[in-house]
Amino acid sequence: MIVNKVGIVGAGIAGMTAGILLAEAGIDVEILEGAENPSLSGSGITLQGNALRILQQIGAWDRIKELGYAFDSIGIRAPDPDATVLAIIDDVRTGGPELPATLGMRRPELAEILRKLVHESGGRIRYGCTLTATESDNDTATAILATGERLSYDLLIGADGINSTTRKLLGIDIEPRSTGAGAWRVVVPRPTEIVRTDLIYGGPNYIAGYCPTSDDSIYAYIIEDARMRDLKDGPAVFKELAGHYGGPWKEIAASVDDDTPINYTWFTTHLVEGPWHRGRIMLIGDAVHNCPPTIAQGAAMALEDASVLVEELLGADGSMDQVLLRVQGRRFGRAKVVVESSTQLVEWMVEGRTDGDVPGLIHKVALMLEVPA
Ligand SMILES: Cc1cc2nc3c(=O)[nH]c(=O)nc-3n(C[C@H](O)[C@H](O)[C@H](O)COP(=O)(O)OP(=O)(O)OC[C@H]3O[C@@H](n4cnc5c(N)ncnc54)[C@H](O)[C@@H]3O)c2cc1C
Repeated sequence: MIVNKVGIVGAGIAGMTAGILLAEAGIDVEILEGAENPSLSGSGITLQGNALRILQQIGAWDRIKELGYAFDSIGIRAPDPDATVLAIIDDVRTGGPELPATLGMRRPELAEILRKLVHESGGRIRYGCTLTATESDNDTATAILATGERLSYDLLIGADGINSTTRKLLGIDIEPRSTGAGAWRVVVPRPTEIVRTDLIYGGPNYIAGYCPTSDDSIYAYIIEDARMRDLKDGPAVFKELAGHYGGPWKEIAASVDDDTPINYTWFTTHLVEGPWHRGRIMLIGDAVHNCPPTIAQGAAMALEDASVLVEELLGADGSMDQVLLRVQGRRFGRAKVVVESSTQLVEWMVEGRTDGDVPGLIHKVALMLEVPA
């Protein structure tokens, strides 16, 4: 075996998925998470079929389908007083015919499922462990924590998200770039008529949309120009923005009160073009590619990265350098199409372009994703 002991920086979707797959294969796995405690907050997430395919591979599917809300189409509604349904489009089942095209769920529930699977597979998560430096030689990668503790592994995986410290420590000089749009997100009770994601283009904002996350909840989002927003005004601002839309949006706006947790995030984008590793330290997930959620593929790409990395490590043929280069080679083209297409969709909105073929681009990406990573 090319690795016996692996360290992973970050207990997000990428880090925990890699940890589960490695620990299941009998490898000693330690996940170093900077946060002091597991995160119990967060809004919802839209998981497309190709994400569900990997979640099924790690044994999470039964728990996910119990808690989440699956559907196979997307609706387009008008920005009129009734939010008139203009079209209902069948989605491609990118995870294969056995899995739904899409499933929405609450982020904290997904994280809890992954944490349980890490423990059940024999992996460990250590909280309050912030990576501040690394060393790597021919045989070993060392993580140096804020406490000064030094931990050595056969491989260190940097799965520490958009502003990855590991990436910076490797000398990969790239900063996520703002795309000019930002999103409000909120979890509210599900109006009974909401049975899939519906999007409203136009009206006072770029997009108003939602995704059912369980029988009794949805997460709703409104995409606007990226602004300096103060979260303490969040509920009032969201209510005001949501109030411009009709149909189910009336109930959504009415569900938001001063205590409703609200999230506001700018959409950013980046893609690391060169190798994703240096020595025995390898980056995956948002650390190497990040995209606006216009086709809901960020977590899906992170899941696929984890799966491909572990597949190549377990079937290792050649040196560590060759294995890690092969992983990047298998992942780069696919991630590039996703990042560029997701970014393009935002840029068309921000530039006010109406001639972009939005459904055509989304469909083209879906057909690529139907082929397993
Ligand atoms: C508004 C918005 C909506 C989105 N919606 C969707 C969606 O619907 N569907 C979808 O597929 N994707 C979506 N995404 C993208 C998705 O959330 C990300 O692609 C995904 O979470 C990336 O996972 P990750 O594990 O790579 O990184 P992260 O989830 O960011 O995890 C990184 C972890 O590393 C830890 N960490 C950071 N630095 C250190 C350090 N120095 N030491 C130790 N630990 C550290 C962090 O605490 C964190 O736990 C959305 C993104 C945004 C911004």
